[in-house]
Amino acid sequence: MVTATFETWRERAKQTNPRTQLFIDGQFVDAASGKTFEDVSPRDGSVIAHVAEGDAEDINRAVAAARRAFEDGRWANRKPAERKKIMLRWAELVRERAEDLALLETLDVGKPIGDTISVDAAGAAGNLQYYAEAVDKIYDEVAPTGPDTLALVQREPLGVVGAVIPWNYPSIITSWKLGPALATGNSVVLKPAEQSPLYALLLAELASEAGVPDGVINVVTGFGPTAGAALGRHMDVDKVTFTGSTEVGKLFLKYAGESNMKQIGLECGGKSPHVVFADAPDLTAAAEAIAWGVFYNAGETCNAGTRLLVDRRIKSELLAEVEKVAKTFKQADPLDPTATLGAMVSDEQMQRVLNYIQVGKDEGASVRIGGQRVMEETGGYYIPPTIFDNVQNSMRIAQEEIFGPVLVTVDFDDEQEAIRMANDTQYGLAAAVWTSNVSTAHRVAKAIRAGLVYVNTFDAADITIPFGGFKLSGNGSRDKSLHALNDYTQLKTTWMNIG
Ligand code: ADP
Repeated sequence: MVTATFETWRERAKQTNPRTQLFIDGQFVDAASGKTFEDVSPRDGSVIAHVAEGDAEDINRAVAAARRAFEDGRWANRKPAERKKIMLRWAELVRERAEDLALLETLDVGKPIGDTISVDAAGAAGNLQYYAEAVDKIYDEVAPTGPDTLALVQREPLGVVGAVIPWNYPSIITSWKLGPALATGNSVVLKPAEQSPLYALLLAELASEAGVPDGVINVVTGFGPTAGAALGRHMDVDKVTFTGSTEVGKLFLKYAGESNMKQIGLECGGKSPHVVFADAPDLTAAAEAIAWGVFYNAGETCNAGTRLLVDRRIKSELLAEVEKVAKTFKQADPLDPTATLGAMVSDEQMQRVLNYIQVGKDEGASVRIGGQRVMEETGGYYIPPTIFDNVQNSMRIAQEEIFGPVLVTVDFDDEQEAIRMANDTQYGLAAAVWTSNVSTAHRVAKAIRAGLVYVNTFDAADITIPFGGFKLSGNGSRDKSLHALNDYTQLKTTWMNIG
């Protein structure tokens, strides 16, 4: 619960003095080039800090430290119970410092402070705890090869894992990657997004304080095409786990092909549909979930439910309800603890969303609410909830990922048409089906090609379920749940003749 006032948060923001150097081999150090970049807050366009601009040379240093830490077994060969204890302590420290972590994320991303405390910081702590608890509960296998042999099938850590993180849920997504990577004994080089570097440095500092040995977690802040690409192309990195745009996800596959064929785990965006049938059990509840599912975090969510496919007969009733909920969002300075909608992450992102809104108008769709920049006098980058009606599923605003608070509405006449449109997208991350008929629910959920299909709800989240997409939303890897442990290990068979 957020108890501090807006005034208190503004004061805390002024006094915050975050780490701004790279974290390599347990030390905070400048970039080899000495360069820094401006870290701008989208709440008002002000410069929060000058952050070290890591490049290929820094990636080399970080990978070398991670490799040394892995090879000498200071983490990988610790007793699982000891690794568990350290990771649990880390989760506890994240919980204790939740407000500090949340403040950095709010300043960097423009997300309301109430959300960064209760969702992001709390979520990151919970996720780290989940993987900590798993460390000493995983057993390996004996293959049924016969009486004269003993074939042990064991998981081994991969070695050095690069984690390239986006800016939309930086703490949570980092915990999805570092939780299972560390639980299974790997060393990590983390490259946070240039828009949101500050949280990562605090997270690494807390890991060190909890007892994670030097070199096991390294953080290189910097830009994608330089630091990110250097990690992707590095010959001594065993895997890169990435969340971000499909375009950059494809680049990582290319980097791997051009270097050491490292494993690449990708989670890349979506255009998730809601399919609302005329027999949806409760349109008010559906409207609530639809509005929160697209306007939360200003729509900067990969699985946001951005396409509303609705039975023509109930469209106007449902849209009226969604609009009602949209108008209850309080868009304000994200440091205001009563805000439920903050700023877009950057000027660039705001311009991209405004451009898509223009594209939608030019394509002939109609704006029902929103559609323009607001709060310009703050110097920040704010766009209110925006709803398009009269959209064709083939339009660019229904096909391309906008990554803003923009909902598009397309109507349908029957189930077949709804399924066809739900699948008529290059993405396949999430979807929702709204119906009272259990057969329809199963049939449509089965027909939709997406990693996560909700029925009569949306965006319910839990670390116990795998998260990742079909088609261009990913390449088969999954974050979250115990399945993620497979993504950070490889199988070794030891075949013994005991006859
Ligand atoms: P978004 O479009 O949401 O900003 P990106 O895919 O551009 O997402 O960025 C996600 C992460 O990928 C960030 O950490 C970013 O620095 C990194 N990145 C961006 N471009 C490249 C690139 N050319 N090579 C490697 N990493 C990149």
